[in-house]
Amino acid sequence: ACLDRIVAHDQSIGAFLRVDGERALEQAKSVDKRRAAGEKLGPLAGIPVAVKDVLCDSQAITTCASRMLAEFRPPYDSTVVARLKQADAVLLGRTNMDEFAMGGSTENSAFQPTRNPWDTTRTPGGSSGGSAAAVAARFAPLAIGTDTGGSIRQPAGLCGIVGMKPTYGRVSRYGLVAFASSLDQVGPFATTTEDAALLLEAVAGHDPRDSTSINRPTPAYTESINKPLAGLKLGIVPEHFGAGLDPEVSTAVKSAIEVYKSLGAEVKEVALPHGKYGVAAYYVIAPSEASSNLARYDGVHYGFRADQSSALADLAAERQAFVAAGNAAAADNVDSPLVRMYRSTREAGFGPEVKRRIMLGAYALSAGYYDAYYLKALKVRRLIRRDFDEAFKQVDLIVGPVTAGPAFKLGEMVDDPLAMYLVDLYTVSANLAGIPAISLPCGMTKAGLPIGLQLQGPPLEEDRLLRGARMFE
Ligand code: GLN
Repeated sequence: ACLDRIVAHDQSIGAFLRVDGERALEQAKSVDKRRAAGEKLGPLAGIPVAVKDVLCDSQAITTCASRMLAEFRPPYDSTVVARLKQADAVLLGRTNMDEFAMGGSTENSAFQPTRNPWDTTRTPGGSSGGSAAAVAARFAPLAIGTDTGGSIRQPAGLCGIVGMKPTYGRVSRYGLVAFASSLDQVGPFATTTEDAALLLEAVAGHDPRDSTSINRPTPAYTESINKPLAGLKLGIVPEHFGAGLDPEVSTAVKSAIEVYKSLGAEVKEVALPHGKYGVAAYYVIAPSEASSNLARYDGVHYGFRADQSSALADLAAERQAFVAAGNAAAADNVDSPLVRMYRSTREAGFGPEVKRRIMLGAYALSAGYYDAYYLKALKVRRLIRRDFDEAFKQVDLIVGPVTAGPAFKLGEMVDDPLAMYLVDLYTVSANLAGIPAISLPCGMTKAGLPIGLQLQGPPLEEDRLLRGARMFE
């Protein structure tokens, strides 16, 4: 049914980069056979799951929506994909994303845009826009995304579904193509919190192959999800309701808070005084890590290599020109073929946003600027974490908006990087602090666009977040 629906409608949505119907049907049939034989099956037996094209799967090309990896076939499974297979999930295909997960609208994909199923003139958000749209369009009941600065929660909010970023280290990053390693985290998309709990439970847990993976048992989220939180204390941050917030979003979030009150929750104000520096710190730290992580795409190790047929001829001609001009030293300094290959590979292989991030990051990390930008951003990051630690001494969860407005039009911000970066206002702090956060639907605008509600919790308290979200649902 999912495959039929994809065939019928994905042409107008563009959620998938590649669908592997044959493999999906094979996996589904094998689950059926094993069920008939009375075998014990995994927790996701026969359930279709869509996977963001950033997690290595040894049976699938993994592109990160980049020309650089357009034909890259990983030699191994990421831990998340391996766990999905172990859980007997049916892997439907690979979803579209912003190139290397850099963006907030999925328009930075080198291959295609993705459209919001609620209004196809609008973006589904990003960078995991393909996964969010796939679930919102009911192409798949579950999907996997990644969240470095909001890329699960923001598209979940803009597509009217549930999306969760777990605590940094809760889900293994082994085999996840790195964007900003200290911020990247894998998480679930679903239509309900219960389904999100099921998917998280299947993929979370310690992994010795990821040195940042947390060595703690995974709680049975699916067992506790329906137990409401007694005596819940919710924090609200006054700055989250400032001038930039769309009035319809503000109304929906405030009425959600009223729902919590009616369920017995106590609501009080908490301060996150350094939150206003979150976007600035994030857009120094994330590009810095990206510029270092993306150095590996050199045309040699793997991935795309630009055509070199003219490089040697060009080189000889350039040298000759210098010699003819009487500048022998310059002739000796002409770039080697290897440097040319590296440069032209990266020129052709990366899209404009990825190049922008590499330049920003290389600048922030360079001698002389390191202390002023990168080190300063790390200090701000620490202060943001401290704010949360203080706040969670007073409240159990923090509630607020996911984004300042509903889904924006395709093309509206793609040429205005700063405006696009500011969309991440409410989401980046959770990544900087490493804490878990969830986005769930809390209403619709008059024009029929979904509005998201964000809950943030203390480290490792995914259980509390899921139960808190379930209470509202
Ligand atoms: N929009 C943010 C960025 O462009 C977040 C991306 C993400 O979480 N992968 O960096």
